[in-house]
Amino acid sequence: MTVHELLLSLDGVEATYNHAIRALSGVSLTVRTGEIVALLGANGAGKTTALKALSGLLPAEHGQVAAGSIVYDGRDVTRRSPAELVRAGLVQELEGRHCFRSLTVEDNLIVGGWVRGLGRTALRSELERIYTLFPRLRDRRRIPAGLTSGGEQQMAAVGRVLMARPRLLVLDESSMCLAPLVVEGIFAALKRLNREEGLSILVAEQNSTVALRHADRTSVPETGRTVLDGPAADLRERDDIKAFYLGFGVGGHASTATAPAAA
Ligand code: ATP
Repeated sequence: MTVHELLLSLDGVEATYNHAIRALSGVSLTVRTGEIVALLGANGAGKTTALKALSGLLPAEHGQVAAGSIVYDGRDVTRRSPAELVRAGLVQELEGRHCFRSLTVEDNLIVGGWVRGLGRTALRSELERIYTLFPRLRDRRRIPAGLTSGGEQQMAAVGRVLMARPRLLVLDESSMCLAPLVVEGIFAALKRLNREEGLSILVAEQNSTVALRHADRTSVPETGRTVLDGPAADLRERDDIKAFYLGFGVGGHASTATAPAAA
């Protein structure tokens, strides 16, 4: 997929919770149209807070953007509401694979279509699109989401967000607690949408091996500040950097590395 103009940029974003706890102290990152960007970092580095800041979700957690700017599709969207952002095509799938557990898998997907106000025919064709992408969901469509596996719930959660036809899909820890094969399948499906439809993706991951393999670029915050930003290929080849900032090296093992020389 060709990468085009700037779609999202965060510049020096600082954020607090309850006007007291500083969670971000200078996060900067960009996503261009057609690009997959992985936001990588250890537990507590500020990934979730950065995603909530750009999706307008911080106020719901008593959080605030205290400084810096967030520009989406050429407009300053710092402190915009999540609903406005969703209408503009910036849609986030929250950490923890939120599904409506008592609704069937298909009804979960339909809820995503309602966000766009789709009629019956359009809903049907969007459902087909999701089932083609995740055939497993077609098999499980009549089952309450709460009775499906973790991987199926994650597919349903991602599928629901995709029903809203985002331009920028934002995912938080979509691989958490899932088997590697399942994670690979979800990323492969997203990569296909990226290639075929130009979907831009920003994905935050702690377990970064798969994300790193599929991403075009990476951004790494550490204690709330961006410390690395560049082509994913650079990071893929630098085990010393991965070990230091992300806590794993060759083979994904935890490490006690010392600071590496700059990439
Ligand atoms: P994780 O992988 O654990 O989600 P993360 O990189 O996403 O980590 P954040 O969850 O953004 O990091 O946390 C950044 C900092 O903000 C941490 O110090 C965390 O304790 C703090 N924090 C996160 N959420 C809240 C909250 N709702 N209220 C107060 N402090 C919070």
